[in-house]
Amino acid sequence: MKNAELVTFGGSGLNRAAELRGKEADVANETDRTIVLWRGKPLFDLDGSPSLVMLKNTHPILEGAPQYFLGVDAETRIYARDISAWEPPADQHPDPFVFYDPTHQQHPDLPKTHSFVELRGVMAQITPREAELTASAKALFHWHNSHKFCGRCGGETQSAASGWQRNCTACKAPNFPRTDPVVIMLITHGNNVLMGRSHGWPEGMYSLLAGFIEPGETIEAAVRRETFEETGVKVGEVEYLASQPWAFPGSLMLGCRGEATQNAITVDTNEIEDAIWVSKSDMFDAYLGQNPALKPARKGSIAHFIIERWLKDQLG
Ligand SMILES: [Zn+2]
Repeated sequence: MKNAELVTFGGSGLNRAAELRGKEADVANETDRTIVLWRGKPLFDLDGSPSLVMLKNTHPILEGAPQYFLGVDAETRIYARDISAWEPPADQHPDPFVFYDPTHQQHPDLPKTHSFVELRGVMAQITPREAELTASAKALFHWHNSHKFCGRCGGETQSAASGWQRNCTACKAPNFPRTDPVVIMLITHGNNVLMGRSHGWPEGMYSLLAGFIEPGETIEAAVRRETFEETGVKVGEVEYLASQPWAFPGSLMLGCRGEATQNAITVDTNEIEDAIWVSKSDMFDAYLGQNPALKPARKGSIAHFIIERWLKDQLG
């Protein structure tokens, strides 16, 4: 697809400087800067439009926080630090039961405009570089937190290569950060697009169908299988469109389009709550905020990006 890399999190050409990992990157330098995350939420300055906060790597709130090396930006080495051990004030605790966490957390030792925020809440307003840094750090921290033990022998693992590897302390097996591939597909039949909704989504919210690729499966096969499993719709031709790193918590979304060979829907309610065909004109109205029955996909998501280009005939 033309301009596929314009998708949010589509990359900013960050120099990840892998040659420095585990070597010079572990030696502190006065000019080093770091982004900060707290329980998966990056620190933004919300004075005006959101901007990613870069602290000196020696800032006192970072003491004891795990540190990983993200890359080099205009000669400055950029790190990510995780201060999840910090306990916010009682009135700033996030709500673990909501679909989307709207709460902000403010550290008392930082300026009042600095807040830890849900990345999805700001992703459509930030620069490609900010998006790449936060997505990389968020996925990396999640991987570290969920791979503390060796999958082979159960021994403890330790971070290595400035955060891009974990080695088992018992059997010495190396582990590398994983990314889970997910297909997300624009399935069309004539002028209609197939939309589904998961259990528990906010009212009126539908999005493109999506699902994890299984071992031994191609992208195209996963598109056809997931669509058939969830909706009973059979898909013919499948074409890859664009990809999006999606650090919620560690996926790579592979955007595809496919043409349905028939339009009868049989929803598998174990998988999703509902699936519908939506005409181009109804989707136009949804994107204009004029369709009360249908909310458009969240701006910044690859679903929003692909549907918008379908509406504008810009998929080719
Ligand atoms: Zn091991």
